[in-house]
Amino acid sequence: MGAGAVTPHTVRAELVEALGGSGGLRRRTLLAAGLPSATWPLAACRSGASLPPPATWAGSSPERGHRLRSPLPPLSSARPPRRAGALVLGGGVAGLSALRTLHAAGVQDAALLELEDSVGGNSRAHVLAGQACPVGAHYLPVPGLAAREVSEWLHEIGLMRFDALRGKSLPDERHLAHAPQERLWIDGHWQDGLLASTEGRPALAAQAQRFAQAVSQASHLGFAMPSQRAPFGAAHAALDAQTFAHWLQAQGLNDPHLLAYLDYACRDDYGAGLHTVSAWAGLHYFASRHGFKAPGTPLSEAEARSEGVFTWPEGNAWLVERLAAPLRAHLHPARTVLRVDEGKHGVDVWAWNEAKAELEHWQTPQVVMALPLFVSARVLANPLDALTKAVQGAHYAPWLVTHLQLSEALIDRPGMPPAWDSVAYAPAGSTSALGYVDNQHQSLRPDRGLHTGPGVISAYHALLESERAALYSQPAATWAQRVLADLRILHADIDDKVSAMALCRHGHAMRIPTPGTRSHPALAALRQQRGRIRFAHSELAGYSVFEEAFTLGWAAGQAAA
Ligand SMILES: Cc1cc2nc3c(=O)[nH]c(=O)nc-3n(C[C@H](O)[C@H](O)[C@H](O)COP(=O)(O)OP(=O)(O)OC[C@H]3O[C@@H](n4cnc5c(N)ncnc54)[C@H](O)[C@@H]3O)c2cc1C
Repeated sequence: MGAGAVTPHTVRAELVEALGGSGGLRRRTLLAAGLPSATWPLAACRSGASLPPPATWAGSSPERGHRLRSPLPPLSSARPPRRAGALVLGGGVAGLSALRTLHAAGVQDAALLELEDSVGGNSRAHVLAGQACPVGAHYLPVPGLAAREVSEWLHEIGLMRFDALRGKSLPDERHLAHAPQERLWIDGHWQDGLLASTEGRPALAAQAQRFAQAVSQASHLGFAMPSQRAPFGAAHAALDAQTFAHWLQAQGLNDPHLLAYLDYACRDDYGAGLHTVSAWAGLHYFASRHGFKAPGTPLSEAEARSEGVFTWPEGNAWLVERLAAPLRAHLHPARTVLRVDEGKHGVDVWAWNEAKAELEHWQTPQVVMALPLFVSARVLANPLDALTKAVQGAHYAPWLVTHLQLSEALIDRPGMPPAWDSVAYAPAGSTSALGYVDNQHQSLRPDRGLHTGPGVISAYHALLESERAALYSQPAATWAQRVLADLRILHADIDDKVSAMALCRHGHAMRIPTPGTRSHPALAALRQQRGRIRFAHSELAGYSVFEEAFTLGWAAGQAAA
């Protein structure tokens, strides 16, 4: 159904609006009290009569990560060492992929140590009120040709299959995001897609065309996902030396609605907006995957397929479960790696067993460090020069992912019906909010959905680095108010419908591809590192997505086998 269509929901919403909102005067009070992200002070709190919903922290265990800052327990207190043919440190997508590759190569006694109680890292799941939802990552685009290891694995688990009659691989459509995928709240109604409609906006229409041409031209330079499969020449380096905002300005691309859309895209993939990420990153987002089509440009069948994204209520935890299941006997969760010491004949690893509260000692000939680089730099007894340089001046985006349990359906408003992803229009640089995902959207049951009954939605915020400290010092209830203030823009009745909130905070969620990151010689050196210790975290790509993590893990596993 297109934008502006009249549905029973929109008729009901108009009636509610005409009557003064879901709660009459109370709604206006709430709206006045709720300040969205753009203007939000930490003390923001609604002044309505009802109590705020209970809000709790969920997801990661900051106290385990902070163990690294404490003095090491005496190494002599550890039990006799355990041995492994290879040891993978960190159980995110990169670590699991490395372990899978080691086992496939015949290193059957390879093992993995992970700090949290379950593997998956940023791609784990949380369960709220019986509904699985993503702690972080929620989708994987249908992989292109360059992501061949990802594609092979998706064939292996049945998510893609080769259609001999058509001579091409096809995704299992049941797992692709159902239509409608995205909608934007702008000028008092919901519209289809996340770029503001070009209807009545001729400047936007013209600039969208020009941006599409610029992306197409840039594509000829060579961009790929994963990024290491593309060339990196002087033209790429020039793009990497400037911000995306600077490059757009130089192209004369300054339409506020286009910039708002591009800023959203950068924040969604990189955790930071177009004034912060490099022009290489801004173009890579489009040129390495589906390109950019100006509104009204028809898509070929192949282009339409390449725009598809796999998603599940629990996000990419669905993929993690399939990656981890055959390796279960070799996964050692609740082990915080504290020290890694490379010797002449092997590597000694010390990890804190969180369940038994005791130090473990492991010995192995090969280690794959699938940890964020700043963690590797802390735990390595003798950090390499390249590692020290790679983390110096690095920027990491803090993220907040908030799951909201809805006790009943939300009232919808005019325009596009409920979609998988719902976002409020905001000028570039004005907000950290990224809208919310409806976790029931993929359900095939007609009684499940945002506007048909109870459920769980997940709101995303890519925060400023300056907000990281507050993420740990302020209570969950305070952050919950900020999230509600942002959602109130989209749903005036949200306060009446939320019965519980679970907030997943990620202090150093992902490396931001600021200018100079893609061409950083230290990151290149770590990708090429030979010897007993290799590196495999997605950070080596300078930013973080599933395809990069999986491929880097595969490459390190191959090399270590
Ligand atoms: C909010 C959010 C949304 C995202 N959305 C998407 C998305 O939709 N699609 C997408 O493709 N990507 C998304 N990403 C990017 C995501 O990070 C990657 O897809 C991928 O999960 C990264 O995997 P990784 O293994 O490189 O890193 P991580 O997930 O960071 O894994 C590192 C692992 O090391 C462990 N660890 C850390 N310290 C220690 C220690 N001392 N000892 C032992 N273990 C340790 C961690 O617990 C973690 O499990 C998102 C990320 C975030 C934060």
